[in-house]
Amino acid sequence: MKLKVIIDSEIHRVVFIEYCNRLPHSVTTELIYKKEGSGQSHTVLYHWDFFPNNGDNSDMRYYNSGSGGYDSVSLPVIHWADGYTGIYWISSDFHFGGEVKNGKQLKHPIRLSKFGGGYSDNPFNVAWETSNYDHCEDCGKSGDDYCRECIYEDENDNYQLKYKSDNRDYI
Ligand SMILES: [Zn+2]
Repeated sequence: MKLKVIIDSEIHRVVFIEYCNRLPHSVTTELIYKKEGSGQSHTVLYHWDFFPNNGDNSDMRYYNSGSGGYDSVSLPVIHWADGYTGIYWISSDFHFGGEVKNGKQLKHPIRLSKFGGGYSDNPFNVAWETSNYDHCEDCGKSGDDYCRECIYEDENDNYQLKYKSDNRDYI
């Protein structure tokens, strides 16, 4: 099975999906470039973090959390913490560079609900890209903007964003 997605006019292939609460949490894609002239191909892995916007599972967002070159089909090995089981799918032509700890591998990607109905195995079909990512330390939710429930603008302090709980500065 090939899960493809077009990002910035380039075709990526999804090679790894980690789930949290049966929703995509961390995704890796590969992009193959053909180098001009030499004809050699060059592969880059892209890492994507997915999150429910302000805790809303029906409003999934994703952003690029990094990328890097590689020359094999192995991904960095993951050791999930004891007492937690990491649920993941990995493309059959990829493997980890070591033994996974506390992980459970799925045979097939999880079917995900799409906006407006229907299902897809492809996490990119059920989420919007966001360039901004904020994480609220107080309630633990992530969003594409600061958390309105826990953070406020202090009009008396040059509109500095502060946590309501103890007035500490938010960035
Ligand atoms: Zn919050």
